[in-house]
Amino acid sequence: MTKIMTIANQKGGVAKTTTAVNLSACLAELGNKVLLLDLDPQGNATSGYGINKEKLKYCIYDVLINDVPLEKILLKTEVKNLWVAPARIELAGAEIELVNIDERDKKLDRALKGTRENFDFVIIDCPPSLGLLTLNALGAATDILIPIQCEYYALEGLTLLMSTLERVKKGLNPNLNTLGVLLTMFDARTNLSIQVVDEVKKYFRNKVFRTIVPRNVRLSEAPSHGKPIVLYDPKSRGAEVYRDLAEEVLERV
Ligand code: ADP
Ligand code: MG
Repeated sequence: MTKIMTIANQKGGVAKTTTAVNLSACLAELGNKVLLLDLDPQGNATSGYGINKEKLKYCIYDVLINDVPLEKILLKTEVKNLWVAPARIELAGAEIELVNIDERDKKLDRALKGTRENFDFVIIDCPPSLGLLTLNALGAATDILIPIQCEYYALEGLTLLMSTLERVKKGLNPNLNTLGVLLTMFDARTNLSIQVVDEVKKYFRNKVFRTIVPRNVRLSEAPSHGKPIVLYDPKSRGAEVYRDLAEEVLERV
């Protein structure tokens, strides 16, 4: 069965997009057919694959609002087995336009019917909010992966995310599984990073992935070259770590 994995945390800058882009590439590298679905109006996951947004006829906005079939917007990438469903800034309007639509939090789930079967994984990159776009992602997902940055206030805001998840499980999507919590931008030189790891492990226990993503300059450079880390610098620490994460994800699903 297709695993639909939503990468969510309403905080910005915690490495949702970096994780969506690189985990997708690493799962594809292992032979899985993967669809990376960009649900953030900023379209950073789309640019992360070097896709020129200006030249696109359609994006995920048209799928959610204008009933364009999802398969019509899929783009093949440089990575074998990997496709992208792109997003552009107009998607920001969907957050408002969806409000007046029937079953407004089920639109993405509906749109995936008939397409998801062609993939082993659909990875959804969410915007930094808990609005209707993120709710659509949670409504369509089998699993959620929560990235947490190893910084001050790492746990702040997570109570809200957890209560949102509880609410989603009670109504919209009872089978939603919390696959794991991923610690990102770890800096072994600082006590703060080490403290955050301890704190997050105390709170989430065995939900925390063994793999911890360190700060790695190559990971932050790769998007400006329009490539995932495994193409930009396949031997970097960043590439190794996201490969480890892909293996760990496969163990868990
Ligand atoms: P989000 O999607 O949650 O807003 P991003 O993935 O865009 O977060 O990451 C925020 C910023 O941090 C980006 O500039 C990204 O390149 C950088 N970044 C993410 N992960 C790492 C890392 N492990 N090491 C260094 N920089 C990182
Ligand atoms: Mg992002």
